[in-house]
Amino acid sequence: FAAPETRAFEADVSKLLHMMVHSVYSDRDVFLRELISNAADACEKLRYEAISRPELLGDDAQPRITVTLDKEAGTLTVTDNGIGMSAIDMAETLGTIARSGTKAFMDRLAADKNGEGQQLIGQFGVGFYSAFMVAGKVEVVSRRAGEDEAASWASDGSGTYTIAPVDPAAAPLRGTRVTLTLLDEAKSYAELYTVERIVKAQSGHVPVPIFVEETGSEEEARQLADGAALWARSKSDISEDEYADFYRSVAGQFDKPAMTLHYRAEGRHEYSVLTFIPESKPFDLFDPDRNGRIKLYVRRVFITDEAEILPRYLRFVRGLVDSADLPLNMSREMIQESPVLSAIQKGVSNRILSELDKLSESDADRYAAIWDNFGAVLKEGLYEDYERRAQLLGLARFKTTASNGEWRSLKDYVAGLKENQTAIFYATGDDLDRIATSPQLEGFKARGIEVLLLPDQVDNFWTTMGVDYEGKPFKSVTQGSSDLSLIPLAEESADTSNAAEDVSGFIAFAKEVLADHVSDVRISDRLTTSAVCIVAPDNAMDLQLEKMLAAAGR
Ligand code: ADP
Ligand code: MG
Repeated sequence: FAAPETRAFEADVSKLLHMMVHSVYSDRDVFLRELISNAADACEKLRYEAISRPELLGDDAQPRITVTLDKEAGTLTVTDNGIGMSAIDMAETLGTIARSGTKAFMDRLAADKNGEGQQLIGQFGVGFYSAFMVAGKVEVVSRRAGEDEAASWASDGSGTYTIAPVDPAAAPLRGTRVTLTLLDEAKSYAELYTVERIVKAQSGHVPVPIFVEETGSEEEARQLADGAALWARSKSDISEDEYADFYRSVAGQFDKPAMTLHYRAEGRHEYSVLTFIPESKPFDLFDPDRNGRIKLYVRRVFITDEAEILPRYLRFVRGLVDSADLPLNMSREMIQESPVLSAIQKGVSNRILSELDKLSESDADRYAAIWDNFGAVLKEGLYEDYERRAQLLGLARFKTTASNGEWRSLKDYVAGLKENQTAIFYATGDDLDRIATSPQLEGFKARGIEVLLLPDQVDNFWTTMGVDYEGKPFKSVTQGSSDLSLIPLAEESADTSNAAEDVSGFIAFAKEVLADHVSDVRISDRLTTSAVCIVAPDNAMDLQLEKMLAAAGR
């Protein structure tokens, strides 16, 4: 980049920008949270790199974010002294869509039929590009830590951006300056009062101090947030609002936490944990690239959010762990393999499950709301995590033929077993209402036997793994002769003792006609009003699973 160069955005970025520019989303304040969070990330990245290269800090070791307002020029500038970007970094990160969250957002948008896209911006934020909701022009000037050259990036949010070398004297000594030329209708973002309010509300807990100043004002820059680690404070000093604010800055979501877990582990390993379960479902929950994003800190220094501290089936949990005993100068790869990390992984996972269990006892409604959102993910643990399977079965909730749309636990199910009933019966499918009205269930209903209704994809897998609950195996209603005859009918129904003779002619006929398609035709106990149904042999695949595999071309 010896000379200015103009390039076209990737097609996806153009689409996203178009959406930002034409956004009618009312809560545009979110752009500031995104810029401040990028500035804080950059400071944390520098803090980490400086562990092995302390010279990067020079004589400017205190991380700092400054928001500068210029009413006359109509600009808002966010400056940080973090890691900075080279011209190449800028081209790679500010012309493409790098982060998977934003990609998933785009996919969701493409599939969006009921105009929820605008809400999605507000709920999840879409990073740097959200600046174009309020700015007609965005200019980024940056210098990567340890480098002499500086570069700029600028765009008006239409199809192209320009990257150019910058006179080093005009660039920050280290770090990044993002300047927004505000749109006429967004000029209020150059007002001190407005910006102070937004920063306090949205970014009060980012781990880097934040200052606000006005160009041309006598007053000194005012500090709005102290960058102190909330998780290091004692629980009794922290209000629910503070936790909620912190959750929003750490999770990048705009809802509230449905469950907050804050504790300090002591003993063999010392670490602090502050995690949250969101109140609403993130849209990328089933994105295959979506891993957990629990942040790992070592003595307040951010190390990585890719340490996979929690198993995949807890990927909806947000927050952080701060270890007191991992060495700071260990590479991320070494940390990954450290026994300290595995102790943390185990300890935190167990604790989250036991907290969920406690919540299910103390506040069934709040627990049910969490299960509503994340039950389908937690159930992945039933086949992925053999060691915690029993615990997960205890946490699992199901809609059943007897639950009137409410969630029921297996404990309740087993308490209501009928005489001679030895299995937990379930029916799978992809639509709850359809499963509930399936003829396969008639014989069960007639005997008052409760059947679990399992509508999620995962249900087809864990049910086939020989899982049992308190010695009771799970059995599909479509599988074989479920031995219903041993269980008495709940109410008198027509006498069927002569049925075998009455229909023997028909059975023989049906066997002949269907010879190539079915392995047997027989009289069944499972129906009451429907005439026939198809079942799977006892030792064969469940019908729903067979359908799924057939659809997948196996
Ligand atoms: P995300 O923060 O989730 O990665 P963004 O769209 O907010 O996504 O930012 C895209 C990328 O641009 C960042 O990952 C980072 O590499 C780069 N970036 C943005 N702002 C800064 C900054 N102030 N300092 C350094 N890098 C930045
Ligand atoms: Mg960001």
